[in-house]
Amino acid sequence: MTDDTGTTRWLFADQLGPHFDDGGPLLLIEARSVFERRTYHRQKAHLILSALHHRAADDPERVTLIRSQTYAEGVATYRDSSHRDLDAIAATSRPARRLVEKLGLSTIHPERGWFTTPGEFQAWVTGRGDKRLLMEDWYRGVRSRHDVLMADGKPEGGKWNFDHDNRLPPPKGETHLPVPTPWQPVEDDIDAQVRQQLDEWEAQGIRFLGHDGPRRFAVTRSEAETALDDFLDNRLTLFGPYEDAVLWRDPFMAHSLLSVPLNLGLLHPAEVVARAEERWRADQATLASVEGLIRQIIGWREYVWHLYWHLGESYELRNELDNTVEPPTWFLEASAEEVDAACLRHSLGYVRDLGYSHHIVRLMVLSNWALQRGYSPQVMNDWFRRAFVDGYPWVMTANVIGMGLYADGGEMATKPYVSGGAYLKRMTDFCGDCVYDPKLRVGEKACPFTAGYWAFLDGKRELLQGNHRLATAFRTLDKLTDRAALVEQERRRGHSAP
Ligand SMILES: Cc1cc2nc3c(=O)[nH]c(=O)nc-3n(C[C@H](O)[C@H](O)[C@H](O)COP(=O)(O)OP(=O)(O)OC[C@H]3O[C@@H](n4cnc5c(N)ncnc54)[C@H](O)[C@@H]3O)c2cc1C
Ligand code: SF4
Repeated sequence: MTDDTGTTRWLFADQLGPHFDDGGPLLLIEARSVFERRTYHRQKAHLILSALHHRAADDPERVTLIRSQTYAEGVATYRDSSHRDLDAIAATSRPARRLVEKLGLSTIHPERGWFTTPGEFQAWVTGRGDKRLLMEDWYRGVRSRHDVLMADGKPEGGKWNFDHDNRLPPPKGETHLPVPTPWQPVEDDIDAQVRQQLDEWEAQGIRFLGHDGPRRFAVTRSEAETALDDFLDNRLTLFGPYEDAVLWRDPFMAHSLLSVPLNLGLLHPAEVVARAEERWRADQATLASVEGLIRQIIGWREYVWHLYWHLGESYELRNELDNTVEPPTWFLEASAEEVDAACLRHSLGYVRDLGYSHHIVRLMVLSNWALQRGYSPQVMNDWFRRAFVDGYPWVMTANVIGMGLYADGGEMATKPYVSGGAYLKRMTDFCGDCVYDPKLRVGEKACPFTAGYWAFLDGKRELLQGNHRLATAFRTLDKLTDRAALVEQERRRGHSAP
């Protein structure tokens, strides 16, 4: 047992890796109210509880796990039983930071678990002056400053990106990429207890989204290391070429499945980056794939994290396209079985069955659909956070409000990520399995994405016509001879499941 003086570190469930632990006693709190307030995916609740309980079981001498109604009650219970001070590491969301402050901890240490610091981001912002905060520029700067994939101050391979090698359409005639099925953790007694606890909570009226299923993602440090090794050994080489492609029977393709262990704080982004770079330097992976992965981690992930803080709380309320439709229940509940349109059916199926899909499904199917149909960005923000196993407030701001739904009027993305069926036909194999035809925009077989794309442009013309990147699209819209019929058709189809 630990002594009764000194400081105990209170860790949130996304601070579970070694870099949050300075060797003293640790406090973990499982707060039931978190799951009462919002309807989370059942598998997400499982991952969080399993991660907490595994962390406690890994080191019972040092870790106290308190199960309570709220975090505040958990802290009070700990304080009643111990004279130790509590400290914490800056939490990853505003509400959590406010709570920690309110509870009067002795020290709140600066954030950990990131590749770059807030100071580095702020210096970059200041240096930009009036220029847009482009991810690509941020990414290049991080690589230069931290000497990642660099040689003599220049990017390895002589260029910053390998889009030409990456972003291929899915291989023709294949149903799966030629990579082994990703490693999957073996559930243990702790998982069985978590499952039982979730069953009890459900019986007591706490609702969850989606289906239960075998645990798919790492929740301990050693599982996270295994997941990383498995990705580097078996999928890294095909990651780059097929990162934007979809084969619907293969939900994971060559993706890393590392967002859960990264977001639980079990892996440090720097170790993922270093290990990937090592593979390239040892000639065990292509530069295009390694660059593609590193771009996701020190480019996108860090950028999105800093933007959450930089853009402020009001950013999450932005709705520049005036989208106020409450998404229908079949969408929010991921009732894939009610949907005929193959791309949306399979994408909602991933959400229902796994609480996971890779980024093209999130962006070009689910967000694209929500944007075309005018779903409220705030409701979608909340949905993505609840329905995905890796959803956290800091990830949502830029990905959902900014990129996915263009609710910031173009601060992040230079044009809305909205597309018709032609994009989905090229980059996925959904359309072969569909009752609709991606080429048709009017009639019984008209693809709801193709028709939805034109109806979106028609409906949002006033708000978007100043965007020069949409000029060609608007010119084409003006030439559509069936435009009125198309708009009327989409009005009639309304928000029923396509
Ligand atoms: C609308 C939308 C919602 C998203 N919601 C989430 C979310 O809730 N949680 C989340 O972690 N990511 C989110 N992403 C980003 C990305 O889709 C996921 O990180 C990725 O699909 C997770 O699967 P993976 O680990 O197999 O990723 P890989 O494709 O293997 O990518 C490697 C890693 O890069 C990081 N990454 C890549 N892109 C992003 C990004 N845009 N933002 C942040 N990290 C990124 C992740 O940590 C990921 O594990 C979202 C993207 C969009 C467009
Ligand atoms: S035809 Fe349209 S609705 Fe069907 S899968 Fe293709 S893009 Fe989706």
